[in-house]
Amino acid sequence: MLNLALMLEGTAERLPGRDAVVLGDTRMSYAHLNDAANQVANLLVDSGIRPGDRVALSCPNLPYFPIVYFGILKAGGVVVPLNVLLKAGEIAYHLRDSGAKAYFCFEGTRELPMGTEGWSGFGQAAGCEHFFAISAYPHAPSLIDGARTLASALAGRSPRFQTVVTEATDTAVILYTSGTTGQPKGAELTHANLVMNALTCWRLFGAADQDVHLVTLPLFHSFGQTVQMNAGLYGGATLVLLPRFDASTALALMARERVTFFAGVPTMYWGLLSVDRKSSDVRAIAANLRMAISGGAPLPVEILEQVEEVYGVRIREGYGLSETSPVASFNHPGREAKPGSVGQPIWGVQMRLVDVDWNEVPDGEQGEIAIRGHNVMKGYHGRPDATAEVLRDGWFRTGDVARRDADGYYFIVDRAKDMIVRGGFNVYPREIEETILRHPDVSLVAVVGVSHESHGEEVKAFVIRNPGSRLTEAELVNWCRERMASYKYPRLVEFRSDLPMTSTGKILKRLLRDAPGKGPM
Ligand code: ATP
Repeated sequence: MLNLALMLEGTAERLPGRDAVVLGDTRMSYAHLNDAANQVANLLVDSGIRPGDRVALSCPNLPYFPIVYFGILKAGGVVVPLNVLLKAGEIAYHLRDSGAKAYFCFEGTRELPMGTEGWSGFGQAAGCEHFFAISAYPHAPSLIDGARTLASALAGRSPRFQTVVTEATDTAVILYTSGTTGQPKGAELTHANLVMNALTCWRLFGAADQDVHLVTLPLFHSFGQTVQMNAGLYGGATLVLLPRFDASTALALMARERVTFFAGVPTMYWGLLSVDRKSSDVRAIAANLRMAISGGAPLPVEILEQVEEVYGVRIREGYGLSETSPVASFNHPGREAKPGSVGQPIWGVQMRLVDVDWNEVPDGEQGEIAIRGHNVMKGYHGRPDATAEVLRDGWFRTGDVARRDADGYYFIVDRAKDMIVRGGFNVYPREIEETILRHPDVSLVAVVGVSHESHGEEVKAFVIRNPGSRLTEAELVNWCRERMASYKYPRLVEFRSDLPMTSTGKILKRLLRDAPGKGPM
């Protein structure tokens, strides 16, 4: 039997007293976490949840996330983690689309507002029969009229449970895409997908029982879920939870908890560079941090170099998607970590570059990444047509354009859908972003295509300047003109004090594309 929940059970038997999860001053041991998940499993079985039933979960990075996640798995259910920023109508869509029978939703607090959106979404999804309100104050009644809190539903339930038998190919988790192209689709990931991916990561990271992770990537998203929660709990690590990333809190926590392992998206690393680099916290972190991982979006070489200089650790970049559990490639420890590269395929995973007809492109040419291996999803839930578009003979096509060097390292050029076509020329934002980021006055940049009467699209850069900088739009455009071919340098520059981000910390280019623009210079 291959089951994701058994990974937690194994560690709870091996290291019962070790801290599994830390939130502020609260520390929860592996034995306690496993017992609490058993109570959730008992609650679900008593509520009539059967193996294969879908159970949705909206919860920020609090101990309740792993408790409920593993509780659902133990009961043989399928976890449907939902983005905590979804509004009522969107929640209802996800509950209906996944066919969820039960829904666990965090009620929110002043610091982590969620309001009563979950309750309204639940009310609109007819098939969803059970609603459990996760309260930050377990002993208080629910904030929502008539709702049952999880704490009261768990009271008196046995902390013993025999995990329900599942097959390796049974769906364990349905992860929804963010829906930037059409309605969100649920990627069905099996127990085998997720166990193998977590296990491979664990081996790859040289993880140890002594590892302490700072977990600020949202656990409802595949990156934090596999790379930190599942791989970490499998290995006996301690997960220090930070529900909302901000650089100074992250820094203080990393120093206090002697964090050895950090995983983040590039904007988080950018945040960690915006602090007082001479502080004692930075020195303490540099003394303990052994592994820093980046993924989810392109890591600018400039950020990689500065993090190494300040924190003394070389970021290892990996690549993947929710549909691939997520990790597909990584800059393997013990091998050269190439700046700008997402590394080589991980153990048991193949990657190749294909054209629109799925044919492999000749060596040295750019193509779309296709992935095959234990990490590739079963398909999109209830969407055979959408599945057939991306899955063929076990290969999954990603929509990401890349090239491969002679050592088999992959370099992401960009997302195919982010490509800008300016006057008939293809322009990839990433290359332009890397160049602009080298300007000494630039702190962060995002390049998008905006519609243009004669060129079809025009290249536009949204830029955050370094504090105190007086850089002008004209100066930056000139600087780019000197370094880039005329068809690609941005004619439009807009300075911003911040950039819109997803809850994962990726820059939301869709909103920038749609932003009312300023005219050309
Ligand atoms: P969508 O629903 O639009 O696909 P998403 O960003 O939520 O959005 P994810 O599965 O979270 O979907 O992200 C996968 C995408 O993230 C990849 O297709 C790729 O474009 C990008 N990505 C992941 N890792 C890297 C990396 N190291 N470098 C560049 N891009 C990356």
